[in-house]
Amino acid sequence: MQRVSSNGTAGNDAVAPVPLDPATVYRRNGARPWPSARPRVIIVGAGFGGLSAARVLGDKDVDVLVIDRNNYHGFWPLLYQVATAGLEPESVAHPVRAIVRQYSNVSFMMAEVLRVDFAQQVVITAAAALPYDYLILAAGSANNYFGNETLAAHTYGLKDLDDAELLRNAVLANFEYAVSEANQARRRRLKTLVVVGGGPTGVELAGAFVELIKHVLVHDYPMLDMSEARVVLAEAGDTVLATFPTTLQQEAIRRLQAIGVEVRLRSPVAAVENGLVTFGDGSQIEAGVVVWAAGVRAAALADRLGVSQARSGRIPVQPALNLADHPEVFVIGDMAYLESPPRRGQPRAPYPMVAPVAVQMAERAAHNILARIRRKPMKPFRYFDKGNMATIGRRVAVIDAFGIRLSGYLAWAGWLVVHLMLLVGFRNRIVVFLNWAYSYFTYDRGLRLITGAKPPPPGSPVQAAAPTAEARQL
Ligand SMILES: Cc1cc2nc3c(=O)[nH]c(=O)nc-3n(C[C@H](O)[C@H](O)[C@H](O)COP(=O)(O)OP(=O)(O)OC[C@H]3O[C@@H](n4cnc5c(N)ncnc54)[C@H](O)[C@@H]3O)c2cc1C
Repeated sequence: MQRVSSNGTAGNDAVAPVPLDPATVYRRNGARPWPSARPRVIIVGAGFGGLSAARVLGDKDVDVLVIDRNNYHGFWPLLYQVATAGLEPESVAHPVRAIVRQYSNVSFMMAEVLRVDFAQQVVITAAAALPYDYLILAAGSANNYFGNETLAAHTYGLKDLDDAELLRNAVLANFEYAVSEANQARRRRLKTLVVVGGGPTGVELAGAFVELIKHVLVHDYPMLDMSEARVVLAEAGDTVLATFPTTLQQEAIRRLQAIGVEVRLRSPVAAVENGLVTFGDGSQIEAGVVVWAAGVRAAALADRLGVSQARSGRIPVQPALNLADHPEVFVIGDMAYLESPPRRGQPRAPYPMVAPVAVQMAERAAHNILARIRRKPMKPFRYFDKGNMATIGRRVAVIDAFGIRLSGYLAWAGWLVVHLMLLVGFRNRIVVFLNWAYSYFTYDRGLRLITGAKPPPPGSPVQAAAPTAEARQL
């Protein structure tokens, strides 16, 4: 039998895939025949941007092929709840085929896009080179280690379902290992978690981990001294939630500290090795798990396109969201670099890497493709900012939207409603709602299973190596 490694590549005894001709690939994936009289649109990525573009192009006079390396669409804003044993992975994701099958002209193919030949207008995967008339690149983002790539091997990331499960397994396994650990310092280390990065993901993770320990693990492990358990949130800047108004930043810090998160501001992380976190000032913390939530950059595909890249590896686009040299290629979402017009005397800044930007860019790009086909003028991208929100533990959130600044219980209720409404799939909404209600009333989390490959026990030389999704791909 052919061996397949964890990154999906075949082992030594594998037979190299035979390149397929595009007509076969399109036919096998249920797409309309190729060549076709109708323009062919390929969308790379079935995330917030890619799927929104497919919805606009659905049942229009074009043939659409969505390509993603996973067969699911992930709802990343709830990923931290998978990592903290609050939700099962399946409830924050939805099969792409179940979404696209409602459109007669949209089909799906699971494949990693390796590169794009813009001159020949083909998208290249391991199995085929697929021709397109129009291309939408929406491959999202990856962790940004700011040039310190050893961090990828020594920290956990949170970018996809695999990352979330690895992180959950590692935290839970460390408490299991702590039970049989005789050495007190090592026990303390197994119960220490450092989250690097005080943005919304770091804040939400740190808050949820503290509550997992305080409300659930404390009952599971009566033999452990839980007063020693630590959740440290390390931030290089002088505040958390930097994109929120100052009052909400201060409120977030106050609330995090109140539930037991140690907030370390002005603490840039210089190195992480074998669970030892070294800060810029030389101070160190020993931790069983270190999570990297300190920065994002464009997905690795952006580096393989042979086009110029802006800050964070993002690809500069025209106001209509296409490339200057290849007007039939559109780049959207986290991958795209476009500056917003200056506002109220503030300097121009790139649109943030958030879901509403990806969705609105997708809609604009898809409408612009339809406009080009109809020989109508394309329109520039305009962003309608719906605001920001983040949760801090089980009853508190901060919201900054439409001029309203809210913190506390009401904001948390608003956060719940918005996320339930945005979640794709009726089943997922029910499952998530029931899980939240269960956890709220019982303070329990039923999903604290250590599944798949178990993290190695402490003392093992590979214990600190944290295989993030990105490290697996490299
Ligand atoms: C943990 C977390 C929490 C977040 N919380 C929030 C939040 O609360 N609010 C908010 O607005 N935003 C949040 N974001 C950011 C938001 O999810 C992104 O801005 C948004 O997903 C960007 O959409 P996109 O379509 O550009 O990329 P994505 O939605 O990430 O989709 C990219 C898709 O491309 C696929 N892909 C990547 N490379 C390839 C390749 N080479 N070949 C084939 N397929 C490929 C991926 O599998 C993925 O399905 C969060 C992100 C994370 C990771």
